[in-house]
Amino acid sequence: MYRNHTCGEIRMENNGQEVLLAGWVQRVRNLGGMTFIDLRDRYGLTQLVVDDQSTNEVKNVASGLGREYVVQARGVVRERSSKNLKIATGEVELHISELNVLNSAATPPFTIQDDTDGGDELRMKYRYLDLRREAVRKNLELRAKMAHVVRNYLGSKDFIETETPVLIKSTPEGARDFVVPSRMNPNQFYALPQSPQLFKQLLMVAGFDRYYQIVKCFRDEDLRADRQPEFTQIDCEMSYVHQEDVLNMFEGLTKHIFKELKGIDIIDFPRMTFADAFEKYGNDKPDLRFGMMIHEMTDLVKGKEFKLFDEAEYIGGICATGCGEYTRKQLDALTEYIKKSQIGGSGLIYAKVNSDGTVKSSVDKFYSSEDVQKWAARLEAKPGDLLLVTFGTKERALPVISALRLEMGRQCGLMDKEIFKPLWVVDFPLLEWSEETQRFFAMHHPFTSPKPEDIALLDSDPGKVRANAYDLVINGVEIGGGSVRIFDSALQAKMFKILGFTKEAAEDQFGFLMNAFKFGAPPHAGIAFGFDRLVSMFAGLDSIRDVIAFPKNNSGRDVMNDSPSPIAQTQLDELYLKMVKTE
Ligand code: ASP
Repeated sequence: MYRNHTCGEIRMENNGQEVLLAGWVQRVRNLGGMTFIDLRDRYGLTQLVVDDQSTNEVKNVASGLGREYVVQARGVVRERSSKNLKIATGEVELHISELNVLNSAATPPFTIQDDTDGGDELRMKYRYLDLRREAVRKNLELRAKMAHVVRNYLGSKDFIETETPVLIKSTPEGARDFVVPSRMNPNQFYALPQSPQLFKQLLMVAGFDRYYQIVKCFRDEDLRADRQPEFTQIDCEMSYVHQEDVLNMFEGLTKHIFKELKGIDIIDFPRMTFADAFEKYGNDKPDLRFGMMIHEMTDLVKGKEFKLFDEAEYIGGICATGCGEYTRKQLDALTEYIKKSQIGGSGLIYAKVNSDGTVKSSVDKFYSSEDVQKWAARLEAKPGDLLLVTFGTKERALPVISALRLEMGRQCGLMDKEIFKPLWVVDFPLLEWSEETQRFFAMHHPFTSPKPEDIALLDSDPGKVRANAYDLVINGVEIGGGSVRIFDSALQAKMFKILGFTKEAAEDQFGFLMNAFKFGAPPHAGIAFGFDRLVSMFAGLDSIRDVIAFPKNNSGRDVMNDSPSPIAQTQLDELYLKMVKTE
């Protein structure tokens, strides 16, 4: 037997018992003839003691220990003279009677404790050591728990967990595919799935009725903090359902996860149309942890000789509660902020409501105090508040003011990570026009059903057609998205046509789906949750990297095993591939 207890479970109740532990040496301290060893495993840390009553053999072994040695220790539990109440085992220690080194260890490149001295790159390179740290491991434990909770819930609702293939046909609509050459089929390629979308729809044709899978998906996109080339979805599909049924089912799942993992009862679960979200929050993923809603002011401010407003299509503002004391420097910093290239604002106008109710604006030359009082009334400002106003085309000004709203939320401390405000955003546009390629793209994907009442618009004004598509948004983060699907092959063919596919291209890429639809496809709908994002939100983290055991870095590289990497000429030959020179 290697051990009969873990390093995290010994308490005062075990006082006097003999126990056997195994784990890693986190730290060795020699204090006046006594040696203290912190022994760590997945469950915690226990202090081992070697003193003058210990055998020479134990003393000898203890004196040769280094950090991260793997050891086994037998001893008697006793009360500590100086207790450490910060850790669960901090009232006790183990007086060792037997100490065996199971394996030695090279000196680790960084300290393996909560406040490590290792930088990001180093910790990524030695990820298996980083994973020994509680701070990192607990994120992975949370991930495992969440997967368990999700499986239990969906299992209890009769969802069948079904695996779908990883080597599939390339259908590069959406993001770029990762492709895999086929040795047995020269010059032909599989793709890794961006999602199991088509397979889950085929499972509905197959009569599976309720499907789910916690599944790896792959997208060859540029990376950001919340993106990895491979990521995990909770992917689901249901038959004989309307949008409402799907929303209710997955609202249930979301509430269940919050209850089980955080003990939180989510009561409010509002629904907001895409159009409303854009008007009031400037984007399609509103953060409802705070108000500060956007108000349009175009009708209020025109015709006062202020050129920037007179020439703008749209003028809108927010009221930053309690920020009336902002200094010139802070206001300049906000202007700088919205002018950053990623945000693209053209300018910021502000007005303060003083504590006595009088107002002062940055455009006093053009607007009287009665004018500005009207702005204050529109934005529901009170004494001590700050009005922030921006302008431009509606399409561009709203996202700018949305970024400003979020920045003010941050500055005012309104984005508490332990408060969760989920909502459904519904009625997305079906199509998105691309100026660059002069064609429509599916906003969600080409299998999404238009709203039945908008189908007539498909011919006359496709840009106006709304979709039966929905996103689950929590705290300003898109956590999930899905849609009611087209299940009629004629409508699907029409969709492909609007998306610029020739009949042949549609047939070549999606013929198998259209064919399947000829054999009795039930009405169906589904959704996929970004599992990594959900876990990172529950863990209070900003990056999904920290909830993935072996993540890639920002260039899509695994710095631990140094991939991607070249392959041997013989491998290339077998695959009929040739290397080309790059700059
Ligand atoms: N397959 C979709 C996605 O990955 C989700 C869905 O429509 O179910 O975004």
